[in-house]
Amino acid sequence: MHTKSLTELAHGLRSGEFSSVELTQHFLKRIKQHQDLNAYITVTEETALQNAIVADARIANGQSTALTGIPIAQKDIFCTLDIKTSCGSKILDNFIAPYNATVVEKFNLAGAVLLGKLNMDEFAMGSSNETSYYGAVKNPWNINTVPGGSSGGSGAAVAARLAACATGTDTGGSIRQPAAHCGITGLKPTYGRVSRYGMIAYASSLDQGGPMARSAEDVAILLQTMAGFDPKDSTSVDLSVPDYSAGLNNPLAGLKIGLPKEFFSNDLNSDMAATLETAINEYRKLGAEVKEVSMPNLRLAIPAYYVIAPAECSANLSRFDGVRFGYRCENPVDLTDLYTRSRGEGFGKEVKRRILMGTYALSTGYYDAYYVKAQKIRRLISDDFKMALTEVDVIMGPVTPTPAFGIGEKIADPIEMYLSDIYTIAINLAGLPALSIPAGFINGLPVGLQIIGNYFSEDRLLNIAHQYQQVTDWHQHTPKGFE
Ligand code: GLN
Repeated sequence: MHTKSLTELAHGLRSGEFSSVELTQHFLKRIKQHQDLNAYITVTEETALQNAIVADARIANGQSTALTGIPIAQKDIFCTLDIKTSCGSKILDNFIAPYNATVVEKFNLAGAVLLGKLNMDEFAMGSSNETSYYGAVKNPWNINTVPGGSSGGSGAAVAARLAACATGTDTGGSIRQPAAHCGITGLKPTYGRVSRYGMIAYASSLDQGGPMARSAEDVAILLQTMAGFDPKDSTSVDLSVPDYSAGLNNPLAGLKIGLPKEFFSNDLNSDMAATLETAINEYRKLGAEVKEVSMPNLRLAIPAYYVIAPAECSANLSRFDGVRFGYRCENPVDLTDLYTRSRGEGFGKEVKRRILMGTYALSTGYYDAYYVKAQKIRRLISDDFKMALTEVDVIMGPVTPTPAFGIGEKIADPIEMYLSDIYTIAINLAGLPALSIPAGFINGLPVGLQIIGNYFSEDRLLNIAHQYQQVTDWHQHTPKGFE
């Protein structure tokens, strides 16, 4: 059952081939069998089975949606009513959310079955899932390598078939990078397309939730449920939601693909370049035209991001003070002691590093030199994309510089870790949508192809990804031991 697509699962449930209770039990069993991957922080076994019973009744009454009865797992950054929401941090290890995030609420209304909450880098800060308070997640393709981050639990769970599908969030690459490292399909929607209400904030002007699944076809089904205006999120965009599955089979003849010369410079690893070239050739065969584009400011994306994201995080994380929610230190002697020890003991190293960097960048005297400058660069980067997207329909490139790296390999060197997002971060600064799809293997590890489109062109991106997945089978490979 775990090898089926979401459409096949919905069909199996409706035709009575299996029930949602059976399907849920099957996934719960796999989660137990493969606990060593550390993909889940919390498994909600009891509520999952209760939800499955309700879903089965709903299916029997003919009131099902495309997701009714389908087991899903949520990244532990989405608040879930009465269920622990840790955000991968000790400071929220005891936090039970009093409400559901809009995304969670939407899946609940659709009748999806929540299997549990997925492991992630602490407060979504990381590219390897090693900053999680709950320990590193292992990549099912090679358990000595990272699954990527920060949605590493989501990547590993979908690749290992420990959930039919999952959610992730992407501030600088956290959906696309783990999708690439785990050989699955992940979409970072346009900023404002998916509600951020109840999604614990890291860098609010960059954060965006999105779907992670095996194929573009599955991702389209998930996005259909996740997308849409939410009055509870002031940055949510009030724009109608198209039918994401309707255009999947549109032909690609005449599609104009741009390849940024800055992405395909000599710095790109030669195996990676060869794999991507093969993928782009498939698109040529499908009738696409390929041309070079230039985005001169792309090289400034990492430095600009590592001012803006920490600045926003330093403000967002000030709410964790040991008073209102989360961890509180023992026997504080006064208020300052309460704040400093609760935060000092509750936050991990990477989170503290970001808070310090961000506070510094925002302080009087440095604000103009760092924060304002970074915002100006952000505009230049957006303009580069705008310009390129007047010449071509979509931009393609790598997702990551290399396939998954070893656990422990980069964690001691933050700069090296930050560079693993060199191809994804600019897209968040511009607020654009982008997909990662499996496009081959290097030394047995999956490689992703990134497809970047214009604002709110998710339907087109999914169409482009789906057409590739009709002529290739990279997205159907399963890691050994998880078949
Ligand atoms: N790796 C990047 C960071 O640590 C991006 C993380 C993300 O997208 N949440 O900030």
